[in-house]
Amino acid sequence: MNKSRPPVDGQCDECGFDYDTGDLQGTVTTLVRQSAECSMALTKAAAGPDSDVVRIRPEPEVWSAIEYACHVRDVLEVQRFRIAQCLAEDRPVYAPMDRTGRVKEAKYEDQDPMEVAAALMRFAREFGAAARVLQPHELGKLGLYNYPVRAPRSLGWLIRHTAHEIQHHRHDIIKILAVLEPPIIPAPKPDPVEETTDSTSTDPEPSADSPVDTER
Ligand SMILES: [Zn+2]
Repeated sequence: MNKSRPPVDGQCDECGFDYDTGDLQGTVTTLVRQSAECSMALTKAAAGPDSDVVRIRPEPEVWSAIEYACHVRDVLEVQRFRIAQCLAEDRPVYAPMDRTGRVKEAKYEDQDPMEVAAALMRFAREFGAAARVLQPHELGKLGLYNYPVRAPRSLGWLIRHTAHEIQHHRHDIIKILAVLEPPIIPAPKPDPVEETTDSTSTDPEPSADSPVDTER
């Protein structure tokens, strides 16, 4: 599964994540919201007419929705442990999470989508709680990170990279499910037009036979 390995700096061509913009709180808020969207996409598909749709790989080398969701869940848990390790140790060296090995070892494709979705959300909230309280000097602390090459990375980067993992794979999960089961993930609706009686409005008054009721 190498088709969707997110980059680790700059802007991601695929999902639009930018490592150079956004503050910590905003990044974490987005991470938790996008984790919720991963969970909802998975549970909606699993509750649909063919629950096995979450286990279908669109191509042999591309993960299924449940495999991506399990990966996101495990990333959130591992990264939270790494935050704690970084704060506790003088020269932290993170153990690799073995992202591809876990797929088979933990039998991702056989896992219960509802349990995966619930755990994913729980780990997102726990990661968010651990990340939000980090102070500037802590965000600058370095640990030896293995992906994509062994290199010292700051805790601030680790938070951003986790947010990118979630945004990137949220994109993957929704894209895969939309192809396999179009009615389950509807296209986003445009924002509703606000009907207000704002006195500053320059809109002309509706004519007497206008079908639009602006009094509500
Ligand atoms: Zn991306």
